Amino acid sequence: MAESNASKELKETLYLNRKNGGLRLSEEEIRKAEEYAEGYKRFLDAGKTEREAVSASIAMAEEKGFVPYEYGKKYAPGDRVYWNNRGKSLILAVMGTQPIENGVNLMAAHIDSPRIDLKGCPLYEQDELALFKTHYYGGIRKYQWVAMPLSLHGVIVRADGSSVTVRIGEDPGDPVFCITDLLPHLAADQRKRTLDAGIKGEELNILIGSYPFRDDETSERVKLNIMKLLNEKYGIVEADFLSAELELVPAFPASDLGFDRSLIGGYGQDDRVCGYTALTATLEAVAPARTVVTVLADKEEIGSVGNTGLNTSVLEYFISDLAKPFGVDGRRVLSNSKCLSADVNAAFDPTFPDVHEKRNACFINYGVVVTKFTGSGGKSGTSDASAEFTGEVRRMLDKGGVLWQTGELGKVDQGGGGTVALYIASRNVDVIDVGVPVLSMHAPFEVVSKVDVWSTYRAFTVFAQHC
Ligand code: MN
Ligand code: MN
Repeated sequence: MAESNASKELKETLYLNRKNGGLRLSEEEIRKAEEYAEGYKRFLDAGKTEREAVSASIAMAEEKGFVPYEYGKKYAPGDRVYWNNRGKSLILAVMGTQPIENGVNLMAAHIDSPRIDLKGCPLYEQDELALFKTHYYGGIRKYQWVAMPLSLHGVIVRADGSSVTVRIGEDPGDPVFCITDLLPHLAADQRKRTLDAGIKGEELNILIGSYPFRDDETSERVKLNIMKLLNEKYGIVEADFLSAELELVPAFPASDLGFDRSLIGGYGQDDRVCGYTALTATLEAVAPARTVVTVLADKEEIGSVGNTGLNTSVLEYFISDLAKPFGVDGRRVLSNSKCLSADVNAAFDPTFPDVHEKRNACFINYGVVVTKFTGSGGKSGTSDASAEFTGEVRRMLDKGGVLWQTGELGKVDQGGGGTVALYIASRNVDVIDVGVPVLSMHAPFEVVSKVDVWSTYRAFTVFAQHC
């Protein structure tokens, strides 16, 4: 039976109509999205750890006229500052034309990603191979990290207090590292393990060398040879691993994905995709009405803990310090502030449809995802944005012509996840979650779409000007 014109019209007026961005965006906008993706991929390659992401962000910010924040200074409209928190998180601000008392427009994303950290005493020799012991960081599926090239990043602080930066396995010609796995021929027992226990935490050992030091008289010759090399290259001794932060991440670069190049595959897109989109929107904000403050946080993947995470007073202190020269209380500013808490959401995956509730899932190419509440089970661990603030953000995005959709992370009882939103909400800020839909979230190779990355950047751009 053919649909009557009357019901067709009614449906267009009354129903929620979502459409693929590949159909909705103009060809020109899709071209812009593709161009924007080039810078994004470079950012992913330059910043594979939170420290590197901070360095890359500062370099970009300085190019756009941002200078280090000075405590006690009364900033004027249009002033652009950044504050580097211990090299691992970053706050940027663009002063607005309105008094700071009116509140700030806050964007928050995290730049740490699941990875494999070294333990404090990592180096050992076993059966004439040299290896590193590791302690994984964040929610990884351990079986995904074996038998693939890994690079080593981080910093080592020597006994005398001097430090050395490590980045090995990224440049052409660099050696890489890996975690070995069993061959299928001998995996009869391992195969019987559950997927979760397929690879155990203490099996995530990194292969780092095999040549013995040429001296028949001594033991642990392979370890000795590695330590000698490390001493020559980095000037370190074994005890220096105790005061180090060394992280293993996938060694490959981000790349276009698919025959149509519509997607981007790469490591660490949760949540550097929101970090980059928030950062670039902030760098382009010129004399906004309300002051724009953007936080690129560390430690989200392990609960936003510590003085570089967002469950801390650091943001509050920064806002207070920014407001103090105007004779305004930080808490007054926070109470009038609005925040887009930016983090990725799980895109509907046709290969695993059962974990999603399709009517409320987010989809690749449908634009930036607005997530009213996150959490798991009965909304545990969420900040649940109010209807009023959700309405405000909805109007803002529609008015700005931003392609957007809503999303919920999986079926109600399937699992779930939280973001930094609740920590910002706890400072009496109006917060809502936005972000990019991702396939294979937390895997060494995560997938997003260029249209969605672009739409998220557009959402931040509109928010930077939002009053
Ligand atoms: Mn995240
Ligand atoms: Mn995550």
